[in-house]
Amino acid sequence: MWNLNNKYALVTGGTKGIGKATVLEYLRLGAEVLFTSRTQKDIDLVLEELKEYDKKFYGLVADVSVAEDRQKVHDFIENQWGRLDILVNNAGINIRKKANDYSEEEFRKVMEINLSAPFELSRKLHALLQQSGNAKIVNVASSAAMQDVGTGTPYAMSKAGLLQQTRSLAVEWAADGIRVNAVSPWFTVTPLTKGLLSESDRMDPIIKRTPLKRVAEAQEMASIVAFLAMDKSSYITGQNIVADGGMSINAI
Ligand code: NAD
Repeated sequence: MWNLNNKYALVTGGTKGIGKATVLEYLRLGAEVLFTSRTQKDIDLVLEELKEYDKKFYGLVADVSVAEDRQKVHDFIENQWGRLDILVNNAGINIRKKANDYSEEEFRKVMEINLSAPFELSRKLHALLQQSGNAKIVNVASSAAMQDVGTGTPYAMSKAGLLQQTRSLAVEWAADGIRVNAVSPWFTVTPLTKGLLSESDRMDPIIKRTPLKRVAEAQEMASIVAFLAMDKSSYITGQNIVADGGMSINAI
């Protein structure tokens, strides 16, 4: 069971960073994967890179915050697979600003993509997940869900909400054969954090606080997202795995 053989998986935001690393890990572990992104260009670049894998994979242009696009994803899965074994709600954004500098529109956008979309997509795909009989949802949250890490209040609120969504749906959908868990990364090398990671005045205190003395690589998150999707993690539901190099248990 240390594999994802014969599993059908959907990864949102699968063309970059943690999402892309997850797509690669899932294919290596034997899953058939559908990934989404907002542009065909990004999808084509990844499809080209994936050619070496002998598993089946598909890319679909879909914005997770748009209802018609979520319907499109649902219809694709229904027609192609007839069931869904794994849903990874990975797509996320941040607008790094002080609370008072946020426009209502910016606030709404962060909440829609990071919090509402995983809820709506999970509900939209519920029947297909139930059809699996042994499905898993993995939500990619953040250290920012639990502590202020200086990356903005709306982002922190959206990820904290996603953790409660994880717990509540885990209880509500356990009887439907669906486990729901979350992974909370600390700073990880991806396009989302590229700018920040190059600012040494911002990064020095972050590394100092982190016992492992480095930020994470995207693959280190993908391996946790894979474990939570495996039948090997069958007794875990409603949990949040904090992958932060020890940051949150370091008081000095
Ligand atoms: P990234 O920006 O590198 O990749 C995010 C992916 O999501 C991209 O492919 C992007 O196109 C896609 N995306 C964004 N909005 C979308 C939308 N509306 N519809 C569909 N796709 C959309 O980011 P990342 O660092 O890999 O982040 C992945 C997840 O991990 C996010 O939820 C993020 O909040 C979380 N996270 C990242 C870090 C980090 O340090 N990188 C830390 C904590 C949490």
